[in-house]
Amino acid sequence: MDKKKIFICGISTECCSYSTLIQDENDFEILSDKKLLKYIDFNYSKYKNITFMPSKFYRSLPGGPVDKKFFLKIIQNIINDLKKHTSIDGILFLMHGAMYVKSINDPEGFFIKKIRSKVSKNCKISLSYDLHGHMTDTIIKNIDYFAAYKTAPHIDVKQTYSRSIKMLINGILKNKKNHIIWEKIPVLVSGEMSSTIVEPCKKIYKNLNIFNKLKGINDCNLLIGYVWADTNRATASAIVNCTDVKIGKRICKKIALSYWNNRFKLVYDMKSYNLNKVFHLINKKKFTILADSGDNPTAGGVGSRIDVLEHVFKNKIENTLFAGIYNKEIFRELKNKKNKIVIKDSISKKKIFISIDKFYLKNDNAIVISNNNTVIFTKYRKPFHYLSDFRELNINLKKYKILIVKSGYLSPELKKLKADNFMILTDGFVTQDFKRIKNLFREKPIFPFQKNFRYNIAI
Ligand SMILES: [Zn+2]
Repeated sequence: MDKKKIFICGISTECCSYSTLIQDENDFEILSDKKLLKYIDFNYSKYKNITFMPSKFYRSLPGGPVDKKFFLKIIQNIINDLKKHTSIDGILFLMHGAMYVKSINDPEGFFIKKIRSKVSKNCKISLSYDLHGHMTDTIIKNIDYFAAYKTAPHIDVKQTYSRSIKMLINGILKNKKNHIIWEKIPVLVSGEMSSTIVEPCKKIYKNLNIFNKLKGINDCNLLIGYVWADTNRATASAIVNCTDVKIGKRICKKIALSYWNNRFKLVYDMKSYNLNKVFHLINKKKFTILADSGDNPTAGGVGSRIDVLEHVFKNKIENTLFAGIYNKEIFRELKNKKNKIVIKDSISKKKIFISIDKFYLKNDNAIVISNNNTVIFTKYRKPFHYLSDFRELNINLKKYKILIVKSGYLSPELKKLKADNFMILTDGFVTQDFKRIKNLFREKPIFPFQKNFRYNIAI
């Protein structure tokens, strides 16, 4: 038997509609060839009659809209790779699902459809997604299999890739038909309100695995969506791969209803307060982690805001570590070796002056010590989610009373520190205060933007 060929490509980012940070080639990392296969980490050798053909996978930290020219160039680059091969049997797409490109309504749908049009009708398509992505009819029409993460924070990325590849391989080798059923759910909340390590999502997601065992069902999914996308397609959805359409439809509605019926229980996993209040609640004897949520770069914030920094310095709070603040200008300021530097944030238009007691540079970071506080300035947008991020900069967390990270829910490693923790409801492009975010293009009604309406779905 001839070996079957699976082509692998994709683009993955999450775009806050109103962020001024336009993403282009400087923001994306490209994984290709062996590097891409290694990243996916699938047990390739088990499938001797399949050849995997890695093209390019573009990924970036969430931010603002993707530059349209760059987006179109990516598609062309992938099509050029595709042209090098004849008779592709399957394509694996690695996507996030909440991309935004101005004047392209459904960028993932556009991307998949364009590439789909270059292969034969018999070629099977499998799509791997983040659970914060959005589904559309165009996407459903152009794919054969679908798998999304089932954990947030995401700890099942590789397992999700594996689910999508296995469905694809089974489809190619056994030619078994898979149907994808989907239902929109008029709910759109933040990841911070829908973590799968707490209820109600913990149970809802656990149930997906129970449904997967039913005869006629292949793989069940629930997408939460991305609340800072002010687009028509931004909504939650239930998506079921099945061989039995009747049972698939029933289970899909069941999943949709289980999320809808719990909508009022979707609340923050952390105690959450505004900036002024939170510092009064800190137990000074304990180590505390504060999450500056409105400027969280992993949700699409810029990461440059200085609201919390300003508050700490104004109120003479000490023993605080800021990890980190994205600010390229600081590196120039520090070069001039002044005793005082100005920190400006172009987004909030705020500026403050701080004295420099000591500073050092390491791995594109500037670590500045001022008034018994340490501020890590970063040359590139960067979250501090791992303990190694601190170790690499010779920073000992035990020396501090307060750690401030630009984040929503705490990363699994920071959570393990078992520190007191609060989420600060700060301003920023990804503010958790939904009353402050523009709502021009989302479908109406949608919870929690509208609260009193019925969801017309019946099992
Ligand atoms: Zn996500």
